[in-house]
Amino acid sequence: MLKKGTFYIFFSLIFLLLNCQKEESIKKCCLAENVVVIVVDGPRYSETWGDPSHEFIPHMKTDLAPHGVVFTNFRNNGSTYTNAGHSAILSGHYQDINNIGGEIPQRPNFLQYWLQQSGAPQTKAWLFASKDKIEPLANCQDSLWADQFLPSTDCGNNGLGSGYRADSITVKHVLDTMGKYEPNIVLINLREPDFSGHTGIWEDYIASIKQVDKDYYAIWQFIRTNPNYKDKTALFITNDHGRHLDSVGSFSSHGDGCEGCQHINLFAYGPDFKANEINSDVYELTDISTTIGAIFRMKVPTSDGEIIKDIFKK
Ligand SMILES: [Zn+2]
Ligand SMILES: [Zn+2]
Repeated sequence: MLKKGTFYIFFSLIFLLLNCQKEESIKKCCLAENVVVIVVDGPRYSETWGDPSHEFIPHMKTDLAPHGVVFTNFRNNGSTYTNAGHSAILSGHYQDINNIGGEIPQRPNFLQYWLQQSGAPQTKAWLFASKDKIEPLANCQDSLWADQFLPSTDCGNNGLGSGYRADSITVKHVLDTMGKYEPNIVLINLREPDFSGHTGIWEDYIASIKQVDKDYYAIWQFIRTNPNYKDKTALFITNDHGRHLDSVGSFSSHGDGCEGCQHINLFAYGPDFKANEINSDVYELTDISTTIGAIFRMKVPTSDGEIIKDIFKK
């Protein structure tokens, strides 16, 4: 009897120990309480991280990259237009969606999932966009989710149909709103360099890449210093699509499956992520929603993506 009891106590202790370790590792991989996704609209990889000099993205190269993970084989494997790219990021599903805002995504987005699972008020989840046409992507057609758990939106001059606004206004709105409402989950669209790229004026396109490098740096600095976000925020900086290779067309346009349109950037920074790391594994836009789910320990079953495991510290 005594022997049996001793065994029982021994195995109980082992079980408890293993469980504690499991709990500890879950806690360890989930220091982030906030997630911010910045979508820089339509730069070509060859003018951003793919340019070995990184001359147009000095803040990314010098200030951000040493603190996070840079992915060199990140892709949009769906339709390489603005609304399709943003919809893939938000819902984890590639959909050839209308590009002027005339269509709502089929599947729910990670903002909706977070609002449903956290029970938090609408002011804790935001969709900001310089382009008004992004606004409909806050919602979805899925009958279980349509018109429910909708994030707060601040898109274009005043919502769908009101026209684009400058990124400087969007950045100001983002910082003001994050200071006021302290949202936990945010997606931000910056219209550059896509907007200037479409003019076909190379100098304007390059200037817009340099400007947007300053814009995400301003948001980065806010996250790094504001007490509500410092050391507890995961930041993703990515693109919705690239632009045609010179051999296919020109930097002035995009929208097909060429390498220039599909090969994009991803940078990830946060308390649970590795630092000063360059990763060349292949990941794609739909993986972002699933990875955000992992950070919040929330299930996102309608996402087709996989968790970007390489981001996390061991
Ligand atoms: Zn475009
Ligand atoms: Zn192309």
